[in-house]
Parts: sequence; structure tokens; C-alpha cells
Amino acid sequence: MTMYWKVDAKWPDLQIIRRAGFTLLRGGLVAFPTETVYGLGANAMDGEAVSCIFAAKGRPVDNPLIVHLEDMHKVDTVAAGISPLATALMQKFWPGPLTLVLPGTGVLPGEVTAGLDTVAVRVPNHAVALGLIKAAGVPVAAPSANTSGSPSPTTAGHVLADLDGKIDAVLDGGPAGVGVESTVLDVTGKIPVILRPGGVTPSQIKAIAGAVELDPAVMVSTVHEADRPRSPGMKYRHYAPGAPLVLVEGDEDKTGGMLAEIATDYAHSGRRVGVLAVTEDINLNGNVQLLKLGCKSDPGTLAANLYSALRDFDRRGVDVIVAEGISTQGLGLAVMNRLRRAADRIIVV
Ligand code: AMP
Ligand code: MG
Repeated sequence: MTMYWKVDAKWPDLQIIRRAGFTLLRGGLVAFPTETVYGLGANAMDGEAVSCIFAAKGRPVDNPLIVHLEDMHKVDTVAAGISPLATALMQKFWPGPLTLVLPGTGVLPGEVTAGLDTVAVRVPNHAVALGLIKAAGVPVAAPSANTSGSPSPTTAGHVLADLDGKIDAVLDGGPAGVGVESTVLDVTGKIPVILRPGGVTPSQIKAIAGAVELDPAVMVSTVHEADRPRSPGMKYRHYAPGAPLVLVEGDEDKTGGMLAEIATDYAHSGRRVGVLAVTEDINLNGNVQLLKLGCKSDPGTLAANLYSALRDFDRRGVDVIVAEGISTQGLGLAVMNRLRRAADRIIVV
């Protein structure tokens, strides 16, 4: 049975948090809100508990987890050789949606790091997450709290839809704010490399680091063939709803028109179509359900609504989803990375 604990996002009930921390210490799995998406936590020092995360999610065991700490001063308990640049980034962005890939110390079980000699670490910016880590008194390994491959959860309801009965508890602290995962940044080399775009943008990193590179795998849709991606998670299809997703991207003035054309064609062939749009006036006909993700000019809102919209279409039981691409400026880069990874087909106009 999965316990459901409702807590205030800012001032969570300490008794509940302590109970949740104890559940982690006992080797249990607790889902909890962070500022990005909901995470599924286990005691990072307990390999057996961590292996339960992989079982519950159906996650490939070669995809390592992010270790969550209560504050940056704990980082040397799991990582070594921390450069001045890494420290500057922690000072600027922690607590917050930036995960740093650092040299490991070997203290963590292989289940967490997938046997790599590096470790991914972050301090989340959420009172419930921080309270839970403190209560447990150990680093907490936590991927997103969804079935592997499906859209990440931004509410406790999403977590239960995927994992009810498979985990010990979920802390419901309301919707996650950012809506997409943390930025994963490899700081083991001279120039930091973004392995996964997320809540902290490349220009924000550049302002501190002076330079930043984007791993070439970031904006490709199918990296199944990449033999040794720098972030193991990159080789899997991700973030995908149940229905096949067609992504229409390219010239901003043309995507809306092409979206309408494709959606109408699908509807005429008898399919139930979900349209995920950012263009204001779209001319749709037939059995088409439209969800507006938000305004093109406001990637923060697009990110916050993305996963919930994809899950919404699954609940409605559409046969196909046609989604409109957006600019890769700011948080738009993370949104487009997720859409491309989720897509079965990409049409460029
Ligand atoms: P998730 O936990 O689902 O948000 O995914 C965590 C992401 O961080 C995955 O894409 C992992 O491959 C990546 N990751 C975790 N640890 C490492 C590491 N040591 N080196 C590179 N990427 C990592
Ligand atoms: Mg995930």
C-alpha cells in the first residue's frame, strides 16, 4: 500500500516529514515534490533500497540517479576534486534546478552511479524535499517519480497514476513549479557541458562560467544509436505519452498552419486527435481536442504545463498527439529537448 501524505509546500508538518524520513532510513521509497518535478527517493547509501527505485519505475539499471543533498556543505560526503568553478556554480544556483556531475568518491553504491566514477548531485529548492533529506540524515537518490519513459510527474496525482502500490509513500506538496527537470551539467572538464537542458538556462550558466557547451546529443531526437553517450539517460526514449506524438517545428509563422493541416487529416481518417499548440488562432476541424500550452513568448509557462498536458491527452484516450515546436531560447531549450525525445515523428516546416 502507498501512504498518501498531504503537506503544506512551505511549512510541511514536521511529524509527517519525520515519518517519511524514517521510511527512507528503513529502506523504503518515498515520492516527494521538488521545484522541478516529483522525485522518487531512496537512501543513497543503501544499494538495496536504491535497486527498488529501478524496479518500481522499470528504469534501465545503467541509467544513474541524481543524489539530493540538504545543502552544498554536504557535497564532499559524496564527491571529490570539486573545482572552484563547481563551487561558484553551487553558490549561485543551489538550492535550485542545477545538477552537477562531479568526480565521485566511491562511497556510493554502484546502483546509484551505474558504476561510473562520477556522481550527479543537486540541492533542491523545495521545503518538503529539504525537510525530508534532513529528516533522513542521509543523501537521497531520486529520479523522477514516474514509470520509466513516460512524462515526468508534476503533481502527486501523476505519481500515483504511475506508481500506486509500488512505493511506500507520496508526500503531496501541490504542483511542482518549474515543470521540467534540472539542468545536468558536467563540470569534470575545463569547460562545463550541458548533458540535459533544464531549469537553469545556458545563458545563466555562461554568466558564471564564462563559457558553456551543449552536448551534441541534447537536441537529437533519436540517440539510440549513440554507443557511449556522456549521460547514460540520453540513449532512452523519454517523456513520452501513450499516444504517438508528431512534432511540428521550424518557422514560427508556419508551424500553426501545418499543425492544423496534419491534425485535420488525422481527424478525417477517423482518429481522435490531441493538439498541443502555442499559436493563438488555429483553425481546426473534426474530432480534435485542443490544449493551449501557453504563450510562445513565455517558455516558463510552457515548461510548467508540458507534462501535465501530455498526461491529460492520455487520460482522454486520444489516438495521436500533434504538438507545435517552440523557440529554444531560455527554458524553451529544455521544452524542445523533451518534445523531441518524446516524438515518434518530427516534421520541419
Ligand atoms: P532523472 O533522475 O530521471 O531526472 O535523470 C537523471 C539524469 O542524470 C539522467 O539523464 C542520467 O543519465 C544523468 N546522470 C546521472 N548521473 C550521471 C553521471 N554520473 N554522469 C552523467 N550523467 C548522469
Ligand atoms: Mg526521469
